Amino acid sequence: MRKGVRCWLRLHLRFLFGGWSPEVCRRCGADVGLVWSAPNEMWNALVGSPNGIICVKCFDRLARTFGIILRWRPEVL
Ligand SMILES: [Zn+2]
Repeated sequence: MRKGVRCWLRLHLRFLFGGWSPEVCRRCGADVGLVWSAPNEMWNALVGSPNGIICVKCFDRLARTFGIILRWRPEVL
């Protein structure tokens, strides 16, 4: 099954049977899991919109498609 189809199915099955959670990645359907943020300019350039929720893995993958390698480090809130 193609990745896009799996993501679509996961998102729709989650919506139908699990309710919609604002903590779900809109690209892959996985729980976001971590509290994280990106600089606004970087987010807008990579995501193409100031809105949305994306997990760290998808954001990292997206950055790599633009040739950007990100370094992740823990930060105390
Ligand atoms: Zn994701």
